[in-house]
Amino acid sequence: MTTVRLTCAFEYLRQELNDVVRLFLGDVPISESEGALHITHTHEAAGGVWIERVTDGKSVYARKTPAARGELEEKRAVKRAAKTALFLLMRDRSGINPPWGSLTGIRPTRLMYEAMEAGLSAGEAEARMREEFYVSAEKASLLREIIEMQRGLIDPPENTFDLYIGIPFCVTRCAYCSFSSGEIGNGRLTEPYTDALIREIRGSAEIMREKGLSLRAAYVGGGTPTALSCTQLGRILDAAMECFPNAAEWTVEAGRPDTIDREKLLMLKTRGVGRISVNPQTFSDATLKLIGRAHTSGDTLRAYGLARETGFDHINMDIIAALPGEDMDMFTRTLDRVTELAPESVTVHSLAIKRSSKLHEALTVAGDSHNQADAAYAADMISAARGTLESGGWRPYYLYRQKYMAGNLENVGYAKPGYACLYNIGNMEETACVLAVGAGSISKWLFPREKRIERAANLKNIEEYISRADEMIARKRELILKD
Ligand code: SF4
Repeated sequence: MTTVRLTCAFEYLRQELNDVVRLFLGDVPISESEGALHITHTHEAAGGVWIERVTDGKSVYARKTPAARGELEEKRAVKRAAKTALFLLMRDRSGINPPWGSLTGIRPTRLMYEAMEAGLSAGEAEARMREEFYVSAEKASLLREIIEMQRGLIDPPENTFDLYIGIPFCVTRCAYCSFSSGEIGNGRLTEPYTDALIREIRGSAEIMREKGLSLRAAYVGGGTPTALSCTQLGRILDAAMECFPNAAEWTVEAGRPDTIDREKLLMLKTRGVGRISVNPQTFSDATLKLIGRAHTSGDTLRAYGLARETGFDHINMDIIAALPGEDMDMFTRTLDRVTELAPESVTVHSLAIKRSSKLHEALTVAGDSHNQADAAYAADMISAARGTLESGGWRPYYLYRQKYMAGNLENVGYAKPGYACLYNIGNMEETACVLAVGAGSISKWLFPREKRIERAANLKNIEEYISRADEMIARKRELILKD
C-alpha cells in the first residue's frame, strides 16, 4: 500500500488535501513526517495574486487566485486553488478521472446553488461544475436534474422545523453498518428507551412552543424503528403527534422486512404515517446472508405486499450498489425487481465501507480494499440504476456523498413526480432546522441572519441516554433558544 507524506503551508488545509489524495489512492496512511510519496504544497503572494503550488518532486502544478478579503473568503479561495492544483497533479499521475472531480464534500448541490445565487442559469452552473471542478458531464447533469426536482420544495415555510426521531435498535447488525445502533438482543432496553424518548419529545415540544415553531416534516429512523414492539412504537408516535400536530409529512423507516407485520402497518396507517421504507438492499439471498441481514428477498416481497394491502401509497425502497460478491447481473436483477414492484421512491446507495463497520475489518484482515477496479464496477452500477429508474419515470431529487464510498460515488434519492420526501431535501440541503430526539441523534439549527448552522448531539450510548434524557432537552434548549 502506498504511504503518503503531505507537507502543506496551512494547517487548516491538511484534511482537505488528504481527502483529495484519497480520491485517487483510497484510504491510505497519510502523515506529515513520512511516506513513500512526498507531496508538498506552498503558498506565495505576488502582486495581488496568490499562487498555490503542489509538487510530488517530479511535476509542479500551480493555481492562481486573486487575493481575497476577509478571513473566511481568504481561506476559501486558498482551499479551492490548492485542492485543484493537487487534484490535477494526482489525476495526471494516476490517469484516473474521479466522477466528482476535485469535489470532496458531502453536498455537491451546494456549489450549484451558490453559482445560481450569483446569477448563473442552471445550464451555466452545470457548465461551471465541469470546467472549474472537473465534475463529469454525467454527474453535472445529475446535479441539474436534482435542482429542478427541488424547485418549490427546498425552502420550508417560515416558522417551521423538521423532526427526526431516532430508534437505535436493529434485529441483527449489517456488516457494512457504521451507525451507533445496537442489536435489540432480549429487548430489555426498549421499554426504558421508549419512556426516555417520550420524555425528550415532550420536553422538546415545550421549546418549540416557546419559540412559536410548528412541525413541517417528521422522519422516524434508526436503526430500525419497527424493531420495537407495536405498542412501543405506537406510544412514541402518539406522543410525537400530540406534541407536534398537523405535519405535512410523516416517514417511518420499516427498513428490515423481517420486522414488519400487519399489526404494525395498521398501527402506522391509522396514525397517519404516509411514507414508509421497506428496504431490500439486494434481491440476492446469498448476498443478504453475507452482509448479515437476517431476512430473505421473499420477506421483502411479503412485507411490500402487506404494506400495499394496508393502503400505503408511498413506499420507498433502498438498494445498494457494489455489495461484496455482486456483479452487474445481480445488481440488474435487483433493479428489475424494484422497478416491477414500482415503489413511489427508490434510494440508490453506493456501498460505503466505514472504519467502524464489520466489513471494513473483514476486508482489512483479508488484505482487500475497494480498489479502482471495484470503483469502475460501482460507477457502472450507479449509472445503470440512473438509466433504469429515469426511464421508468423516477427522477433524482436529493444526493449526498460519504467518505469511503465505493468509487467516490454518491447516494441518490429518486422519486416519482409528487413523491419527493420533504425531510430528505431539507436535511440534505441544510435548508430546514432539524429537531432530533433519541440516542445518537443530532439536532441542526439554522441561524440565517448569521449564515450559521449549529448542532447539538445527543449521547450515543443507549443506557446513558436513558438515564440522561433531561440533559438532552437542556442541550436543545441552549441551542435553539440562544438567539
Ligand atoms: S438496518 Fe441500518 S442501522 Fe440497522 S444494522 Fe443495518 S445498516 Fe445498521
